[in-house]
Amino acid sequence: MTKRSAVEETWMDCVKVSSACRACGGAGLHRVLELGPTPLANSFLTREQLERDEPTFPLDVYSCGDCGCLQLVHVVSPEVLFRDYIYVSATSETLQRHFAELARSIVERYGLGEGSFAVEVASNDGLLLKKLRDLGVRGLGVEPAVNIAEMARRDGLEVLGEFFNLETARKVLERHGPADVVLGNNVLAHVDDVADFLRGVEVLLKPRGAASFEVPYVRDLIEHKEYDTIYHEHLSYFSVQVLVRLFARSGLSVHDVERVPIHGGSIRVHASKAGAGRAPTARLETLLEEEERMGLNTLAFQRRFAGEVQRTKEALLGLLRKLKAAGKRIAGYGAPAKGNTQLNYCGIGTDLVEYTVDKSPLKQGKLTPGMHLPVHPPEKLLEDQPDYVVIIAWNFADEIIRQQQVYRERGGKFIVPIPHPRIVP
Ligand code: ZN
Repeated sequence: MTKRSAVEETWMDCVKVSSACRACGGAGLHRVLELGPTPLANSFLTREQLERDEPTFPLDVYSCGDCGCLQLVHVVSPEVLFRDYIYVSATSETLQRHFAELARSIVERYGLGEGSFAVEVASNDGLLLKKLRDLGVRGLGVEPAVNIAEMARRDGLEVLGEFFNLETARKVLERHGPADVVLGNNVLAHVDDVADFLRGVEVLLKPRGAASFEVPYVRDLIEHKEYDTIYHEHLSYFSVQVLVRLFARSGLSVHDVERVPIHGGSIRVHASKAGAGRAPTARLETLLEEEERMGLNTLAFQRRFAGEVQRTKEALLGLLRKLKAAGKRIAGYGAPAKGNTQLNYCGIGTDLVEYTVDKSPLKQGKLTPGMHLPVHPPEKLLEDQPDYVVIIAWNFADEIIRQQQVYRERGGKFIVPIPHPRIVP
């Protein structure tokens, strides 16, 4: 056995390996996709930090033999991942619009108004709570990221600085009473003990209350080969079938599901206490049937996806190597968390892509985790005029190409890497 360095010893203490399915408790987990040892997606480095050992963690996806839920089994401590967080909703215009629309639809759907009480789990900078407040709804946020909870408090919102679970739910219930709605966006997939989390939701709801959670949809991930959505923060990749079963385990009954385009394709799941008497909608039934027909939760379907991911990687590497061999210069656009899965899995270093550019001042001047591409401000593209730019933040490809019209007019070309690499002249 090779001896691990002191750094590795400390970091491995932050990882727990789960042996049971997070969604159904089943013991039969099968590995379907190995993305290899990967650093944490948001651990951008300074030049000085390059001298030190960089911790990496296994990034392998398993499927449950019982319910088919795709999931990671290596769980990095949430204290490491989420207590000091850099993702903030309010910076994105798309998210501003998305949450305004969401607040209106929740208020309308559940007849909320003066005197109603909403709890938002993982309330981030409070964007949704503010939109609800504008509509007269009293809200409480639960947000463990110390720096981000503070931003919401500065806007006059009440935020409990804790991770949500059954214990936290009881605390909220005691201090504030039961909730008309419990909301959570992009949090369910991040939670390890998700059954305990949902028991907390059940406990906190009024008898006729409702819960609404938005999660990335595994069907979109697979159909569009969005494998870069897979990183250590995202522990589970949910289908509707899996969610219905998972909610039922905690005494909640799913009565409706909407498909929403945000984050490369998500679903918004609506549930209430079992016995609240809300009948399942036709579109919920339709989605369940579609998943059944396509075999979304079967090992065979999921293994086929793993093969396609491998081919996408080979195609991208083949293209980049061919261009380099022809003497072309290549840069990147974007340094999103998800980009690091792609760069590390494909092994794209500075020998292929010289650097990337990103609008975030927090990332500029730093190096991407693992592959160490330098991150520059977007203006660098015009100063430098590389022959090709790989759009690492491919989900914003249209917006980026529009903004970089001058680079294109001067002969620059783009490469969109996912679902299959293509050149945009
Ligand atoms: Zn399972």
